Amino acid sequence: MARSLVTFRERSGCRPSVRPSPGRARQTGRSSTKHHKVGGVSRIPHPEVDVPRQLPPRGLTRGGRNPRPWRDPRLRSTAALLTSLTALAATSLVAGPAVAESAAGPCALRRTTAHHSEGLDTWNSAYPRPARTLNAVMVFLSFPDSPPTITPDELAADHFPATSQFFERASYGKFELRPHPGREWVRMPRDSTSYAIKRDWNAQRRAAYLRDALAAADPHVDFSRYDIVYFVADPNAPGVDSDATKVVNFDRPMRADGTDIRRVVTVFERHPPDRNVLAHETGHVFDLPDLYHRPTDGKGDWDTHVGDWDLMGSQFGLAPDLFGWHKWKLGWLEPHQVRCVAAGPERLTLEPLGAPAAPAARGAIGGTRLAVIRTGRDTAIALEARGAAGNDHATCTEGVLVYEVRGGTASGSGPIEVVDAHPESESCWGDSVYPQLADAPVRVGETFTVPGEDVRVEVEARTASGAWTVTVAAG
Ligand SMILES: [Zn+2]
Repeated sequence: MARSLVTFRERSGCRPSVRPSPGRARQTGRSSTKHHKVGGVSRIPHPEVDVPRQLPPRGLTRGGRNPRPWRDPRLRSTAALLTSLTALAATSLVAGPAVAESAAGPCALRRTTAHHSEGLDTWNSAYPRPARTLNAVMVFLSFPDSPPTITPDELAADHFPATSQFFERASYGKFELRPHPGREWVRMPRDSTSYAIKRDWNAQRRAAYLRDALAAADPHVDFSRYDIVYFVADPNAPGVDSDATKVVNFDRPMRADGTDIRRVVTVFERHPPDRNVLAHETGHVFDLPDLYHRPTDGKGDWDTHVGDWDLMGSQFGLAPDLFGWHKWKLGWLEPHQVRCVAAGPERLTLEPLGAPAAPAARGAIGGTRLAVIRTGRDTAIALEARGAAGNDHATCTEGVLVYEVRGGTASGSGPIEVVDAHPESESCWGDSVYPQLADAPVRVGETFTVPGEDVRVEVEARTASGAWTVTVAAG
């Protein structure tokens, strides 16, 4: 099979970086292009990409399995790879099959056909659910035009254990992301410059890159052992562009080692990389959407929807823990930790989202972390306490954060919007990705009525253990 034409549909996704020159590195304030800016580093999103069809690479045939994850190529007689043209299309444009009916109750929005829908009444089984240990292989790709000057171990250390620790904290220990970094470079057959790697990548060149990477890696990797695939390019190769880091979704899974590969994370980060970038990309592998706002002309603020308040909005956020809604979706909050407020007024105690589960609370008695008021067929208002703990240890402000969730809105189009309880003020200039929302939470002693919704939130006090006592009234 020699055909290699692959068509791609670009879709708003992750954020390409625009780094300032060293002279600008400590500059504060807004960049001239108004991409958000943290410590002088500006970021605009990395697009996530769908690949409707992936055709077989040249000269490759299906082969057998080998139980060893990193194999001596000499032991392998046939390169096993790609692709099952008859495989069922796993299009990410439609909702995949449900795993099971949810017992999540009346506040659980239904999952819609929107890409990465925030609906969570069922899980899309086209994605691995991170409520158990998942194994991720890191394949380090070098190029003939640039002998590597760093080691795979050094590159692995750019992302791990930090990425695993982020998820360990976010999931209260329920999810382990277990990395399996390759010990040796896997050499690509062509020069790095030959692929014309960049953010909005020529489809044929991208297909060539993926095809070459899979073919080069396959003798070394048993893909059937892994839930997640990271292709990490040598950051020093001249053709590597960090703006090209993204998740590539295949509507038609690729086959290798008898397993379907539905998506890969292609990493082109610098060394050292942007903070939390791999955690953000990995969030997409778990069906989480992009939460930033993508200005139509590429200019303007990217962080108007959620500011600092979720990794999927910005990996540079001061409080990048995942929203309680996402933790509910991923299975990290137990049903009893989510309070569905029907009308009220209802008084509840919210544990800080980022705080670890207290030893006494392990098992069945975890505290409430999320309150939800359903406002429509596909909409809800969510409340959670955000304090300086865990992934949020560097938060700018503390209090009860209010946001709207829209289950029918696609990734990158604003599926979550933080409601600013202090719209007339800003906080943390120079550190926040979007100072207007940095002071969004409702503080102790304040009562806030959500504009346009009949929802009132009164934050009464904090408990001795640091939880927030809140009264919620709806309707
Ligand atoms: Zn993204």
